[in-house]
Amino acid sequence: MKIIDAHLHFVREDEYFDGIAAAAGHINSEEHLREQFDSLDVVCGIVMGNRGLELEDHRYPEFLRYCIGLDSGYLADKSVTESLDLIEKHLRKDQCVGIKLYPGYCPAFITDPAYEPVYELAEQYGKAVAVHTGATAGSNALLKYSHPLTLDEAAVLHPRVQFVMCHFGNPWLMDAAAVLEKNENVAADLSGLLEGRVDVDAFFLEKSGYTQQLSAWLGYLHEYDRVMFGTDWPLVNLSEYQRFIRRIVPEKYYEKVFFENAKKIYKLNA
Ligand SMILES: [Zn+2]
Repeated sequence: MKIIDAHLHFVREDEYFDGIAAAAGHINSEEHLREQFDSLDVVCGIVMGNRGLELEDHRYPEFLRYCIGLDSGYLADKSVTESLDLIEKHLRKDQCVGIKLYPGYCPAFITDPAYEPVYELAEQYGKAVAVHTGATAGSNALLKYSHPLTLDEAAVLHPRVQFVMCHFGNPWLMDAAAVLEKNENVAADLSGLLEGRVDVDAFFLEKSGYTQQLSAWLGYLHEYDRVMFGTDWPLVNLSEYQRFIRRIVPEKYYEKVFFENAKKIYKLNA
């Protein structure tokens, strides 16, 4: 089965990313990622952009696409006009398949007026807006901005924008399901639910309440046309993570969840 990894990070030669890759049993390099993708039938990955908006900082190998990330630098370093100009330059590129927002890490709700022109650009170019939701790495971020319910209003205000709720709002799974159930223009990715190395069998025993909740809310929602496999590489071990998601998603929806949905939502020619 061909697979698309709908959520990863790709920051070369960076101490932080090198460290989390090592903790997950990986090496933070293009060669290693390519080898891992080949061995696991992953044909394409979608990078969630970090490190600002400069065009030269977003050169990726041909097996990757990316969402340009509006991380903590957005609105802080540059004039809004200059930032929007750069975002538009990315959106004109085929390899750029969307925009990634980082609420929680950025201290603003995604309905903040500062993001309005960003949604207009996404609609104009027909590209998705992926939104970090749920728990955050580190204690400096603010959870009230990353709660999945915040996506509801953005989705209502921008019905022609395709949103992606990253991490299925984890651990606010019930709220995430409610937002997806109500808003057809919201999809979700199942990335970043684990961290580092995980003994998958032991995890399902020790955290059975959690894994049952995850399966249960996905099953309640029953929108397997709008849920995508993603990993959050290099945060997780790729083969362990695939095994984990295969146990959460019913087998008859594998084709959709592991491949077709990402291809459709991010308009890939994979
Ligand atoms: Zn991520």
